[in-house]
Amino acid sequence: MANFVKVITGSSSLHRCFTLISRCFASKSSQPSAGFSFEPNAEQLEIQLLARKFAREEILPVAAQYDKTGEFPWDIIKKAHSLGLINHHIPQEFGGSEIGSLESVLIFEEFGYACCGIATPMDVNNLGQIPVVVAGNKEQKKKYLGRMVEEPLVCSYAVTEPGGGSDVANIKTKAEKKGDHYVLNGQKMWITNAGHANWYFVLARTNLDPKAPPHKSLTGFIVDRDTPGVIPGRKEINMGQRASDTRGVTFEDVLVPKENVLIGEGAGFKIAMGAFDRTRPTVASTSVGLAQRALDEATKYAMERYTFGVPIAKHQLIMNMLAEMAINIEVVRLACIRAGWESDQGRRNTYYASIAKAMAADVANKCATDAVQIFGGNGYNTEYPVEKLMRDAKIYQIYEGTAQIQRLIIAREHLTRFSNPSS
Ligand SMILES: Cc1cc2nc3c(=O)[nH]c(=O)nc-3n(C[C@H](O)[C@H](O)[C@H](O)COP(=O)(O)OP(=O)(O)OC[C@H]3O[C@@H](n4cnc5c(N)ncnc54)[C@H](O)[C@@H]3O)c2cc1C
Repeated sequence: MANFVKVITGSSSLHRCFTLISRCFASKSSQPSAGFSFEPNAEQLEIQLLARKFAREEILPVAAQYDKTGEFPWDIIKKAHSLGLINHHIPQEFGGSEIGSLESVLIFEEFGYACCGIATPMDVNNLGQIPVVVAGNKEQKKKYLGRMVEEPLVCSYAVTEPGGGSDVANIKTKAEKKGDHYVLNGQKMWITNAGHANWYFVLARTNLDPKAPPHKSLTGFIVDRDTPGVIPGRKEINMGQRASDTRGVTFEDVLVPKENVLIGEGAGFKIAMGAFDRTRPTVASTSVGLAQRALDEATKYAMERYTFGVPIAKHQLIMNMLAEMAINIEVVRLACIRAGWESDQGRRNTYYASIAKAMAADVANKCATDAVQIFGGNGYNTEYPVEKLMRDAKIYQIYEGTAQIQRLIIAREHLTRFSNPSS
């Protein structure tokens, strides 16, 4: 905590941010269960407004430029770090702000509104950290989370491999125990932040018996980027979110100390999958931000663009598209809040997190596509903002569990609840 104070007390506005986030933390444990409410409390509102100001003033104006160059948004990450707007999940004991998942949902909607390509590296920082937050011991947390509070660093979550992403149980990267170390060999693919990460959460196979189930054979490791044999590949040129850094990573005889195992051999699958309960609410709310931006851009354009003597916003078919966008955004925003809130109650939120993630990804894609439609020919052109939204939206139906995998999870959870209503 002391370091956090030191980092953010440099100016009065930063001090205000610290006070605000601390207050939110202090009130978290004593939150009354006041029943249904559709309004943020005072602290949540302040966090939301702070994130909105930061996103609109620091991210939005440079989004197109970062998209064009594909440069990693270090400047923005550093500023967000100094304001305490990233690394929300790190416990106070290790210097973090430990605000709730719901508050993170509010922050990431604002970031997503401004630029999902810039929001993703910051959100994936959470994804890399969560395994350590939930499964790390005190030393691991102090060493790997503590440094992220002290310095604006990023980390990665390295699970997917060239052979498959949805079928995590089938990963091939192996870690063989030799004395006090594990020797890591294998290849990861599509790892966000991989070229800039200070450390990686890596899932690897420690039991090489092909018949061993994943909850016995897969183990989670923390791997320092500067360990010999860790080789990030070239930056992938993706359809959208181009400021985000995605690469393959090769592990060649990498020696990982046994102290860097999370919990123990065989615990990795549960840790890796469980992390998504905490991160899907913010991935979802980032795409809600994108959808809201698509609606705002389309509305503004529809009021200014005339055809047949009237603004196109007056044509019923255009009004229908705007109304559909609004309906979906309002509904899915609540789904994100529910998913974050469930997590903050200390309850298993898998069902709600997947509902929010699945629907938000679809809504973002539909809203971005309809915004391009409303812009007509201009929508297809890079001089206007909506083609980027359409490119940026697609990945939400793919990463952190595809649209199909979310539906499998939701159906599985639903069937369990149906068979056992008290579960
Ligand atoms: C830009 C980007 C960033 C990423 N960042 C990360 C990261 O930081 N860390 C990380 O570990 N991974 C990351 N990923 C990987 C991502 O999570 C995977 O791409 C995703 O899980 C899908 O895996 P896959 O690409 O192997 O597709 P596959 O698993 O091969 O799926 C192909 C298609 O088959 C469908 N499918 C698969 N299985 C089933 C099934 N049982 N039923 C129905 N349909 C099915 C899928 O939905 C999909 O449509 C990233 C990917 C991209 C593109």
